[in-house]
Amino acid sequence: MKKYIIILLFIHYFIITIAGANSIKFLKTDFDNLRILIDIIDSEKTNLVVKGNNISLRYSTEKFPSIYQGGFSLANQITILNLNPVLKFFYDHNYDKTDEIPEYKDIMILSSNYLEYKNRKYRGKFFIVNKDKKYYLVNLVGINEYLKSVVPSEMPSSWHIEALKAQAIAARTYAIKVTIERRKKGEVFDLYSTVLDQAYYGIDKENPRTDEAVEKTKDLIIVYDNQPIWALYHSNCGGQTIDGRMVFPKRLDPTHQYLSSVKCQYSGKKWENKVEIYTIKKNLEKSIKINIYSIENIYTNNFRVYIIYNRNSIYSLYNWEIRKLIGYNIIRSPYISKIGIEGEHVVFEGIGFGHGVGLCQFGANTLAKNGFNYQDIIKYYYKNVEIIDLGRWLENANI
Ligand SMILES: [Zn+2]
Repeated sequence: MKKYIIILLFIHYFIITIAGANSIKFLKTDFDNLRILIDIIDSEKTNLVVKGNNISLRYSTEKFPSIYQGGFSLANQITILNLNPVLKFFYDHNYDKTDEIPEYKDIMILSSNYLEYKNRKYRGKFFIVNKDKKYYLVNLVGINEYLKSVVPSEMPSSWHIEALKAQAIAARTYAIKVTIERRKKGEVFDLYSTVLDQAYYGIDKENPRTDEAVEKTKDLIIVYDNQPIWALYHSNCGGQTIDGRMVFPKRLDPTHQYLSSVKCQYSGKKWENKVEIYTIKKNLEKSIKINIYSIENIYTNNFRVYIIYNRNSIYSLYNWEIRKLIGYNIIRSPYISKIGIEGEHVVFEGIGFGHGVGLCQFGANTLAKNGFNYQDIIKYYYKNVEIIDLGRWLENANI
């Protein structure tokens, strides 16, 4: 009996230890330095040029991991020639004064105004971090500065202010949720700067109207069951949004209803695109690893596409899967209304643009014009959610 109690106590201790290791305490200030991936750098032919004002490079070493060595500089430009095996860099055009740092860990690049890289200007700092033989150029930037670039990159800044506010809250919630997940996994950056997460194109995108939308909704996030939601959004749904659990079954808990399908007040934009049968054949071969010598027919029914190939074989896949197979810009949405074969081509027709899950941007703008405010818009597209202050949520959060 005693033995069992000891075993039970051990199991109990073990469970508590595991649970403890998985939960991290997050503070609001943790989001003052979001880590946005700007580029992945070639370590040998680096030639990385960053422009700015009073630009300087700092680095850490094994011995001084938190001290960023390297001084202040009055240069307007830095060129990093190599990152591996040694760090080689020079300021402005002073190639003859190239510096070599043999053993370093991480690099930080600072500027007194902005950092310009590949014709885009960014706020905050740059950080170059090495993981698994890859070098990541990461922009450390506060969440508000980040959102002031994301919102106008994702929605036209000329749109109704209430739609822009709803977009700002959705983008903030998305950023917070994904950042928490990636930090818990110990990843080297929090968010991609592309549509893989949210489009972030730096300072040039900023606009006073979207700045206002970000400021007026400061710190507001969307929660469901007291957790930030995966705040998906898309251009236009085509008349009705699609249940997120259908499109992302691995990513979404089946009991979570916040991405349920809703009827939209914007009818959607029609599209028509054609693609060569040869392209479908090649992509399908790669995907299902079967030699395909002919495609006889292709049709759609109830969110599925059926491909008849090699005379009598049928391959069927969901409409969101064929978007991936053929291209997101060709099959612009999961609402495929018609598929026809014309000679060597297949013509696809449909309505909407994007995955169709969550907030419909054109629909949000329509609702705003019809008198809905940002709370109404958010609660229209995300079901059974609350909009709360990030700081208040963090106080009681179980992350
Ligand atoms: Zn819509």
